[in-house]
Amino acid sequence: MTPAPLLPMAPGPAPARGLYVHIPFCLARCDYCDFNAYAGMEELRNPYVEALMREITSAADGGEVSTIFFGGGTPTILPPTDLARILAAIHESFQVAPSAEITIEANPETVDERSLSALRTAGFNRLSVGVQSTAPHVLTRLGRIHSPQRALATLRAAHRAGFDRINADLIYGTPGESESDWRRSLESIIESGVDHISAYALTIEEATPLSSKINRGEEIPPEDDDQATKFEIACDLLASADFTRYEISNWAKNNSWCRHNLTYWCANNYLGFGAGAHSHHNGRRAHNIRSPRTYIENSPSPEAGFEVLSPNERIEEAIMLALRLTGGINRPLFQQRWKVDPLNAREAAAQRLQTLGFLELSPHSMRLTDRAAFLTSAITTNLLSETAA
Ligand code: SF4
Repeated sequence: MTPAPLLPMAPGPAPARGLYVHIPFCLARCDYCDFNAYAGMEELRNPYVEALMREITSAADGGEVSTIFFGGGTPTILPPTDLARILAAIHESFQVAPSAEITIEANPETVDERSLSALRTAGFNRLSVGVQSTAPHVLTRLGRIHSPQRALATLRAAHRAGFDRINADLIYGTPGESESDWRRSLESIIESGVDHISAYALTIEEATPLSSKINRGEEIPPEDDDQATKFEIACDLLASADFTRYEISNWAKNNSWCRHNLTYWCANNYLGFGAGAHSHHNGRRAHNIRSPRTYIENSPSPEAGFEVLSPNERIEEAIMLALRLTGGINRPLFQQRWKVDPLNAREAAAQRLQTLGFLELSPHSMRLTDRAAFLTSAITTNLLSETAA
């Protein structure tokens, strides 16, 4: 009998602290993007790096950090020497665990084997590449500026540069993408030898070029049924290639989960540096100024605001985040950490969801079923809102 795959469950017994660094610059703006990211702004890049270093060193507490993630934007728009300096400042300011996972996001048009080797030498040990699709017409619809060939060449170059932990980001359900386009994208990425794949359904965010085109009738919106079918295709194809889905939109081989993102999903603490970055420390959530220019002007104190969650809000957030994981919630560990069973006062809603086939309950765990994967947000809201009523 094949043993059940080992899947992460939240929350873990020993909360680990993550560290996020935001680089808000991109070569061009993709049509679907609503991230805190800006094309151009070349003149701000050097002052931004200096401001970032000041923010990091002024927050130095010598405490342990077990994951680091450089995200954006496009971090690799900066020269590897700058990225290495920022990473060195983190090492000087915090106690980075020897086994720390250190990820950097890259877009294909900003890296080559040489720059990737320099990043590997600087200490980055995980790479996350924005591929999105290998169908040229889909990349065009998304406003991506790289070709499929360049994206696949980047994955090969990353292997040669010494990265053995590589994620590829994919998007499915773009208008004009056929099922065979999506299958080919998945097959090419599987073939490339990555150990992690994040595949997200395209969502239309307000005030993006894509939403404007849809509003003007120049583009058709994504369809729920099409996206649900493509999610099932991803589940089938990736499972047959030995990838295990461990979160709604994330698959990994050999348990090579993104430990940094698990920090978020397990409601653990994290430090965020850079424009618009968020931090969380024991229920205190803070966020930085979003504009890179204003962030630099306010260096090294760019905090724009914070909120303190009540104990009940923290518990609800922990449940909501943990149910994203296919392993769900480890009830004894949850009780140990939060002093309450996650089912407490939610029994009726949980029973109803279990009857509908969306929730699995045991004395040790509480998890959403595969059937619920595409409805996670609605189901979690249903579970939590009943308590609040
Ligand atoms: S590369 Fe990423 S962050 Fe930059 S515009 Fe495109 S989607 Fe947004």
